[in-house]
Amino acid sequence: MENLEEEKKGAKKFCANCGKEIAKGSEFCSHCGTSTKASVRVETQPTNYSNNNNNSYQNEYANLANIPSEYKPISMWGYFGYELLFSLPCVGFILLIVFSFGGTQNKNLRNFARSYFCLIIVLTVILVLLFVILGIGGAAAYGSYSRYNNW
Ligand SMILES: [Zn+2]
Repeated sequence: MENLEEEKKGAKKFCANCGKEIAKGSEFCSHCGTSTKASVRVETQPTNYSNNNNNSYQNEYANLANIPSEYKPISMWGYFGYELLFSLPCVGFILLIVFSFGGTQNKNLRNFARSYFCLIIVLTVILVLLFVILGIGGAAAYGSYSRYNNW
């Protein structure tokens, strides 16, 4: 008998809203009508949510602080600034070479400089090819023109 009563006591639930005793199986408080599940959810969820938010923000800041200077991320405006810098005539190209070949500790910046360097090489090759093709075409046209004139 004692065991049974203790079991019953252990199974008892109390309303989160009014604090009164609720029957074991019921989902609503018989005194104030609050849903036992809803009241629990309302109590725990907002605090968990804000805690998670705080934690993720804190983790993000902690992670940023823990990143070594070689891997520090560059902001969008940072990239934009470097892009403008690299597009300067002469000075930009020198900076590009310096950053591409170990002039900076930051790997993000170095990779960005290298990718920009590759782009410039590709563009230069295309320009040179265009000039060569146009030059050959021009020379051929000029050759045929001068031949025509001589003849
Ligand atoms: Zn209640």
